[in-house]
Amino acid sequence: MPLLEVRPEGIYCPAADVYLDPYRAVGKAIISHAHSDHARWGMNHYIAPLSSVNLIKARLGKNISIVGYPYGESFHIQGVHFSFHPAGHIPGSAQIRVEYKGEIWVYTGDFKWEVDGVSEPFYPVPCHTLITECTFGFPVFQWRKQEHWFQKMGEWWQNNQIENKNTVVLAYSLGKAQRILKNIPPCGNIYVHPAVAEMTEITQDLGIHFPEWKKLDAKDKPERSLIILPPSGQSDGLLKRLGDVEIGMASGWMGVRGKRSWSAVDRGFPISDHADWKGIIDLVDATQAQTIYATHGNPDVLVRYLTEKGKDARAWGALFEREEG
Ligand SMILES: [Zn+2]
Ligand SMILES: [Zn+2]
Repeated sequence: MPLLEVRPEGIYCPAADVYLDPYRAVGKAIISHAHSDHARWGMNHYIAPLSSVNLIKARLGKNISIVGYPYGESFHIQGVHFSFHPAGHIPGSAQIRVEYKGEIWVYTGDFKWEVDGVSEPFYPVPCHTLITECTFGFPVFQWRKQEHWFQKMGEWWQNNQIENKNTVVLAYSLGKAQRILKNIPPCGNIYVHPAVAEMTEITQDLGIHFPEWKKLDAKDKPERSLIILPPSGQSDGLLKRLGDVEIGMASGWMGVRGKRSWSAVDRGFPISDHADWKGIIDLVDATQAQTIYATHGNPDVLVRYLTEKGKDARAWGALFEREEG
């Protein structure tokens, strides 16, 4: 019996009778991070990284049954040892290490190596078997350092100010939005959508400091300002109120020409919260795992590459919906 296996409900650990990031309602779920494709409704009980507990509650409700563990601290279920380790993906995100009778598996959840100023820094965890995400698991994906893109974003904001325009950046409300807020060189007022504000307040409680920002409310009339909105938050009414705007989007998918996501924006910033191709290969090397299961995205190219390198690599199919980028 393998330590972890794929079931219709999600990744399952038979020895502990617990699921990792299940996508159907189950009894007990260990959650890697608060994004909605990983932390879903309907579990009887949730176990999560301590720093993600309030983020998960904000999304799933205050009354869920949830317990949090700090990074690196083991907890045991039916003799199986589990621990969370920073995944560097968003605040409170974790890899999940599973150990039983001397065998070690690591599930990355979503991860990235780059230190982004808001997520707890990633480190590789040695294991026999690695379950890695491969959202951007193609050689074509090679991220530039975030400093490059935040400088570009800052210059774009300044240019828009000269033209008397507001600057709108579309970014997912948890993770990407805080990363932008933390790293863009401020040159004016910053407003954020209420959904972004809620996640930012919880992140501040984790000890992350941000430049001054304000929750955008109906009375505000921003001028030459930066406004961070989730992609779903750009209603026509709101955009009309913001007057003359330039719209940009921050996402790894902006590294792909001709993607549908390009059509609605003036500028794309390929800033991703996921590892690129080299990041995934480097992780495989660093963990020294002999067996690798690839999830998310299209694992075929990665699986072929690792197989040629002498690894036992397999696709675990598209377990999750299209990634937030
Ligand atoms: Zn995620
Ligand atoms: Zn994901």
